[in-house]
Parts: sequence; structure tokens; C-alpha cells
Amino acid sequence: MSAKDQIIALPNPHLRGKSKRVKVINDEIKKLMQEMQKATIDWEDSREHEVGVALAAIQLDKPYKIIVVRNNFDNKEDKSFSIFINPEIVKLEGEVEEDYEGCLSVRDIYGKVPRHSKVRVRAMDEQGREVRIKAEGFLARVFQHEIDHTNGLVFVDHIKDKPEAFFELTADGKLESMPYEQVEKAGIFRD
Ligand SMILES: [Zn+2]
Repeated sequence: MSAKDQIIALPNPHLRGKSKRVKVINDEIKKLMQEMQKATIDWEDSREHEVGVALAAIQLDKPYKIIVVRNNFDNKEDKSFSIFINPEIVKLEGEVEEDYEGCLSVRDIYGKVPRHSKVRVRAMDEQGREVRIKAEGFLARVFQHEIDHTNGLVFVDHIKDKPEAFFELTADGKLESMPYEQVEKAGIFRD
């Protein structure tokens, strides 16, 4: 089994559960943080037009509040990540903006999701030291998406009543509107 095959996808109900806080960064947690990075890169290597930007532990079916975020979104050669343990949104700021999002756990469906343009996050790094981050733009979006995962939310939950907000990727890597009947049949919505 390759690393990316460990990634679970909707309609797996585990993605709608709340993850637990990490109390001790033990060997199990250290191994998980490695596996999360490996799975993200392995997934990216299997996709021609996409970047594996970030992952939450629940996407490997491990319900811990851990997220890994790529350090460089624009250069696929830079395969390094930052790790955030028990990340929390301290404050949402700025305007609400709509932009495209995809998710390794929502296969081949993309959405235009409203998110705040700025966010303040508090977390621990992999050494257990407290970190505070002020993010804006795409990084702010990534934090909101990933911290949602730790709370059992998936991006489609924000747009389920907006039929025009769903997109699919064409063979040449463009996003095209996806018929809502097709979206509904994919089983990605909560019952
Ligand atoms: Zn996701």
C-alpha cells in the first residue's frame, strides 16, 4: 500500500468527528507527523495538476489535532512542511473572500468557499513550543480549512446549499462548473 492510500475520503464518517488534543508528543505522534508529510507528497506525485498543500491527521484516520502545512506553495520541489499541534483559531479578521479549494479527502470535487482573508492561529510546534501565527491570503485559507478538519468540518459543509459553488478538474487541469446532481450523488454531504 502506498502512503497516499492511507488517506480517507468522504463519505467516510470519521471525517465528521472531532479530533482530540495531543497531550504528549510521543513516538506514535512523531511517526504520525512523518506519515502525514509522506502521504501528502505521495498524493501530489500521483496528480499532474495539483499541489498537496496541507493535511490534517484525521485524513489518515488518526483523530488527533495535528496539521501539516507545506512551507512553499509555489515550488513543488520544496517538499518541506511546518507542523502545528493543537492548532486553534484565535481570531478571524479581514474581509470574507471566495476562492477555490480542494481537499485530499474529497475526491475530484472542488468548491468556491468563503473564508476570512486574515487569521490568527495559536498552536504548538513539533517540539511542543507554543507558536502564534498571523496569516493572510491563501495561507489564512489553508489554516481555516485544516483547523476545520480537526473539528470535523469539511469544506463542502460550508457550501452545501450553493449549487453553483462546485467544480471539477478537466483533463488539462482547468476547473469547470460541476452539475449539482452529480455533486449530490457523490455522497459528500452529511445526512
Ligand atoms: Zn481538506
